[in-house]
Amino acid sequence: MDKVIKALEKNGFKASIFKNAQDAKEKLLSEISTDESVGIGGSMTILDMGVYEDLVERGNATYWHWKAEDKKAALENATTTDIYLTSSNAVTEDGKLVNKDGTGNRVASMIFGHKKVFVVVGRNKICKDVDGAFERIETIAAPLNAKRLNLTTPCVYTGVCSDCDSKDRICKAETILSKNPNGTSIHVYIIDEDMGY
Ligand code: SF4
Repeated sequence: MDKVIKALEKNGFKASIFKNAQDAKEKLLSEISTDESVGIGGSMTILDMGVYEDLVERGNATYWHWKAEDKKAALENATTTDIYLTSSNAVTEDGKLVNKDGTGNRVASMIFGHKKVFVVVGRNKICKDVDGAFERIETIAAPLNAKRLNLTTPCVYTGVCSDCDSKDRICKAETILSKNPNGTSIHVYIIDEDMGY
């Protein structure tokens, strides 16, 4: 993990290691002021950390379509918040963030529109390189996400990607953040636990 942290920093990202999700959550909450608005992308990691509930309880204006009755409004409001929280489908050993998105809200917000972006990843998301990252997405992240969403993509049944033309396809925007984009401060939290998928 030290190697990944150094590589992320070389690529212009901020990067930190935490021994568990609780430590990461405490640090995350300390880095967000109560008067800052927060948007959240779809993420099992963020869900399992319980950070949404803490933010709401202490009064942060927080927009997450996974928790909102009006999902469309939450998605729109989350595009312009001060802070954005998400995970990444994969982090490479040479410090790149690799993702595939269906809607594109998550990857768009990682790149532009927020003062600070926090990307929280478990150690299970670390891959050797970009090819390994896409392999991870196509054999683990996307099939499990499609299954969670009760979709009928081929990967739900086979466990591997067939570059499908399914109406339910969730892989529509692929991004590789090779360096920290201009105008956005991305801080990657790596947790020494398996989290999300
Ligand atoms: S392209 Fe289709 S088959 Fe491949 S991982 Fe995405 S949803 Fe599954």
